[in-house]
Amino acid sequence: MTQITLIPGDGIGPEITEAVKSIFSAANVPVTWEEENAGQTTFDSIGELIPASLITSLKKNRVALKGPITTPVGKGFKSINVQLRQMFDLYSNVRPAKTTKGVNTRFENVDLVLFRENTEGLYSGLEVVDERLQIVDSISRVTRTGCEKIIRAAFEYADKHGRKKVTAVHKANILKSVGAMFLSIASEIAKEFPHIQYDDKIIDNMCMQLVAKPEQFDVVVTTNLFGDILSDLCAGLVGGLGVVAGANIGKEMAIFEAVHGSAPDIAGKGIANPTALLRSAIMMLHHIDLKDEANRIEAALETILGNKEECTGDLGGRASTMEFAQNIIAKL
Ligand code: NAD
Repeated sequence: MTQITLIPGDGIGPEITEAVKSIFSAANVPVTWEEENAGQTTFDSIGELIPASLITSLKKNRVALKGPITTPVGKGFKSINVQLRQMFDLYSNVRPAKTTKGVNTRFENVDLVLFRENTEGLYSGLEVVDERLQIVDSISRVTRTGCEKIIRAAFEYADKHGRKKVTAVHKANILKSVGAMFLSIASEIAKEFPHIQYDDKIIDNMCMQLVAKPEQFDVVVTTNLFGDILSDLCAGLVGGLGVVAGANIGKEMAIFEAVHGSAPDIAGKGIANPTALLRSAIMMLHHIDLKDEANRIEAALETILGNKEECTGDLGGRASTMEFAQNIIAKL
């Protein structure tokens, strides 16, 4: 049995984690859950945003599944997600985007994986505020080591999964120094993988290309802010945030998470779509080498997604979160 840290999160988090737990249990997946939470909920109960017990659990288990956590906008505490990524150097944010039969989208043949640097850039948290002059400097710190780690992760993934091309995305025409460093590292690493095609795109052109001809992309690698925006754009190409998986991976630890938020507008109604968290959990099973279990659950999920009636409302069906989970269980 592998022990996994389970962070249910806020809003719809507990509802979708229950759905995933019931599917794992029905599929006899050999994992046990160690449940720990973070954010406002734990702050209200024990006065800690990231409890010491969660940190201990993460260090011990080194693999976690996480629901969405509410982050106050423009005030309040720093995002728990960003803090966990920085605390444990989870430098790769991996976001697959693939069209699924039965899920309505504008495109039919998207199949790409985005690698976003997860700890640096404008998310370094370096903000200098001059209250008197009302000027804010948000410092984007990018390091050679950080670029090397994310670019190498993208090429290694492409190599391992038989992908054909890696595209580096940047803004080197305007942000010349950081762009030059990112591109020079990318072309150096590309030489180690001569069987993988390598090219680069400027971020604005990349956005246009993605919404016009997304099928031309395979593996995409970029810095933090561009990656944050592109990854949701890619989610939109394949059915939205309710159906895409995400992982934060470092050398020592990996946290798999639903990439959507806590959806306060539907929390507690039992209608949230658990697909994003379930797909992240399937990625997690591949990560811990439980491939048979991953493939079996994925096959059942794909069958249900192909039949709208058995899905939740956001996918055009009428099932509740738990009915959707039961429909998947029936197909295992
Ligand atoms: P959101 O993703 O929570 O919701 C956007 C819309 O999508 C809402 O209409 C919601 O009902 C719908 N939606 C999202 N997930 C769904 C699901 N699984 N099934 C069906 N519908 C779903 O985005 P938001 O409203 O901008 O953010 C709410 C809170 O979540 C904020 O505090 C934000 O900071 C936080 N957030 C957390 C994470 C995370 O923990 N990884 C990610 C994004 C946002």
